[in-house]
Amino acid sequence: MTQLRVVIVGAAGRMGRTLAEAVRAEPKLRLVGALDRSDCPDRGRDLGELTGGGQTGIVLTDDPLPLFANTDVVLDFTSPAATVAFAELAAQARAVHVIGTTGLSAEDEEKIRAAARHARIVKSGNMSLGVNLLAGLVRRAAAALGPDFDIEILEMHHRHKVDAPSGTALLLGRAAAEGRGVTLDDVAVRSRDGHTGARPDGAIGFASLRGGSVVGDHSVVFAGAGERIELNHRAEDRSIFAHGAVRAAIWAFDKKPGLYGMADVLGLR
Ligand code: NAD
Repeated sequence: MTQLRVVIVGAAGRMGRTLAEAVRAEPKLRLVGALDRSDCPDRGRDLGELTGGGQTGIVLTDDPLPLFANTDVVLDFTSPAATVAFAELAAQARAVHVIGTTGLSAEDEEKIRAAARHARIVKSGNMSLGVNLLAGLVRRAAAALGPDFDIEILEMHHRHKVDAPSGTALLLGRAAAEGRGVTLDDVAVRSRDGHTGARPDGAIGFASLRGGSVVGDHSVVFAGAGERIELNHRAEDRSIFAHGAVRAAIWAFDKKPGLYGMADVLGLR
């Protein structure tokens, strides 16, 4: 069996380290490179030292070009600016690009769509099986309950998270909007402060909590007159996202160029 070669970008980060462990545990993949920013204090160290395992022979570098030219897959959980740049490089190198980065602007999304005309890209604000299944349930509940039920999405993450609402909250919001046959951007209320007035009809509201080491909690609340339904997901370990990313890479390898989501990978569409 030929193993797919994998490069991890943002390899010194929380997800980067978790991805390194997931790739090493997957016999269909072979880790060939690890990249982080040039000012990363871990640059030049063996990846094994970062993840607490033995020496791997993979040293953390900061130059994407030689790594991208010799890989089949790029796993990317970094920052929006980095991900947009990597999308172009991965497309040039004809590598599968798995994007977990969140907080992308509409302009960033457009650039990634452009790269996907020539490349296989799998992008999701949440790579876990559970959350993607939850999105399907939210879509069905929103369609079945109709506009008399107000939809609110609550999320909590660790204190280091830099974007809000979370990519997962937005993914769940889009699922709810689809269920209702509306566009999320037209109905989203992403924050509230001061004299906001009454809740607009049909709004999908978001609330974000930050603190401690929470990996990721999400609740979708359907609040009707006299009753309330809540659908919840609790991520207990980052490895669920890394396993989803590994699965996405293997799935995408023999697909045509295009922009795919985890629902495609998991056969949930
Ligand atoms: P982190 O800050 O721990 O790690 C990000 C890493 O990317 C850092 O090591 C940083 O130095 C590196 N990086 C940034 N710019 C770079 C560049 N230009 N070149 C090379 N490396 C660069 O953050 P994290 O908790 O690992 O999360 C990373 C991203 O993944 C966030 O956007 C987060 O929301 C997202 N995330 C997504 C999922 C999912 O399932 N889709 C799950 C968890 C986290």
